[in-house]
Amino acid sequence: MSEQKNTYTSLPVLLGVFGDPIAHSKSPAMHNAALATAGVNGLYMPLHVRPEQLEAAVKGIVALGYRGVNVTIPHKEEVMKYLDVIDDSARLIGAVNTIVNDNGKLTGYNTDGIGYVRSLKEEAVPELAGKKIAVLGAGGAARGAIYALALEKPERISILNRTAERAEALASDLRRHGLGNITGSGMEEAAAVLASADILINTTAAGMHPHIDDVPVNPELIREGAAVSDLIYNPLETRLLREARLRGCVVHGGLGMFVYQGAVAFEHWLGIPAPVETMRRAVLDSFNK
Ligand code: NAP
Repeated sequence: MSEQKNTYTSLPVLLGVFGDPIAHSKSPAMHNAALATAGVNGLYMPLHVRPEQLEAAVKGIVALGYRGVNVTIPHKEEVMKYLDVIDDSARLIGAVNTIVNDNGKLTGYNTDGIGYVRSLKEEAVPELAGKKIAVLGAGGAARGAIYALALEKPERISILNRTAERAEALASDLRRHGLGNITGSGMEEAAAVLASADILINTTAAGMHPHIDDVPVNPELIREGAAVSDLIYNPLETRLLREARLRGCVVHGGLGMFVYQGAVAFEHWLGIPAPVETMRRAVLDSFNK
């Protein structure tokens, strides 16, 4: 955790989020509520940055004295080339979602996967060591989540994806980085994998609004007593989670991932614990506006 370095203590700590589009982002509501609850004189702004202005915007972090920013679609990969230091989390995932400005030195982190795992442990499955984990999907969200899950030393992680080659490629890349027992296959392996999985994690978009009746896998394949987690938070409870809950499974939705990726970023910028429940409440309130 880096220390806050704002020498002009009477000025607000400046934070924000780069994205295109950005008006829909829930991050300003979440972080401004967190700053107020933590008693920090600070301001978190939505910053509309078009791709051709990304380099200038990154220079602007230093020029304007921003303590840091979040980075969202479509800049998470491209922004890496403008930073001074890339943390391991971001290098392995290949994307940055948080930048910290230490007196002009910009460091890029990725808090998505770490935030997801912190949320999973706090809200549903406290201990991941030794567990058999099945992950549905092999895109960017899967990569971040699997990186952070692997640090918890599960017995194995089995990636299942509609496009088998993508699952195999992701698994072999993560194995190459020494991240443990990770395999990838197509959905035809789902029955065998789910028969023994302790935790099932959906990282695909199947079931996300407006396609709320979709499921990424047949819920009847889920083992009784397994925990089921979905990265989707719109809706808060997907059909997969509803069906799993009715089968007696512990369920975990995607809102916590969003909240905790923000909490980990907040802690990088300010060096103090994030008020997680305030942040969760602020996001839920912003859904109702
Ligand atoms: P991505 O890179 O485009 O990857 C999408 C993945 O989902 C691929 O594996 C794709 O399979 C699979 N997929 C998409 N539609 C599917 C369908 N109808 N049936 C089965 N598989 C399907 O996207 P991403 O960035 O990884 O994001 C995936 C999801 O994660 C999003 O829906 C989002 O809700 C969620 N997410 C949540 C948070 C959070 O804070 N809670 C953060 C980031 C992402 P193929 O390879 O076969 O195309």
